Amino acid sequence: MSDQFSSETALVLFSGGQDSTTCLAWALSRFARVETLGFAYGQRHAIELSCRDHLLDGIKALRADWAEKLGESHTLEIPTLAAISETALTRDVAIEMGEDGLPNTFVPGRNLIFLTFAAALAYRRGISNIVGGMCETDYSGYPDCRDETIRALNSALDLGMSRHFQLHTPLMWLDKAATWRLAFGLGGTGLVDLIREHSHTCYLGERGERHEWGYGCGECPACALRAKGWREYVAEE
Ligand code: ZN
Repeated sequence: MSDQFSSETALVLFSGGQDSTTCLAWALSRFARVETLGFAYGQRHAIELSCRDHLLDGIKALRADWAEKLGESHTLEIPTLAAISETALTRDVAIEMGEDGLPNTFVPGRNLIFLTFAAALAYRRGISNIVGGMCETDYSGYPDCRDETIRALNSALDLGMSRHFQLHTPLMWLDKAATWRLAFGLGGTGLVDLIREHSHTCYLGERGERHEWGYGCGECPACALRAKGWREYVAEE
């Protein structure tokens, strides 16, 4: 491990969704300095990226210490990903389950690509902690969200870049209701309300209708999962 690598700084994969916003708050509660990284790859819900600015502003307004810790917001353009994927996220295709048991929203190895770019950026920025919202509990069949995959990639990145990275996945074993609870624990009602209002989850990129859990089409798998988690969270209150 290099002395120049800061264990006090984290880079958060920040798409502007519920999970990554919760991860951002988690990182802000643990590290002295936090930078964010979003990817632009021509996905149909590029609206997620525009949500990021609202969320970052909201996070800063929520707590002065978080505002102080929040560093650069990076965006990497990887249009190649859209060129190699034929899924409902990047083409005008309905979301459905494929014969392989995976939804056709699946971009093969997407998280491996994201985390590898994140590690390359972290390397250049002297950051050793990388935080992502991968989750095995609400498992949609995405093999690149599995804990085993993340740990294997962590080893590969350490070897391939000759550094010691720590990939953190605070949501790995949480369901969506528990993710709302975590957000509440980290930032209270203010953070929960910020996530409801400004984070984006809908696969179809819809913001039109405001549900109690936030905006979205209300029908797609991502909306259904978010709505279910919200109902369970509220029922536990
Ligand atoms: Zn939706």
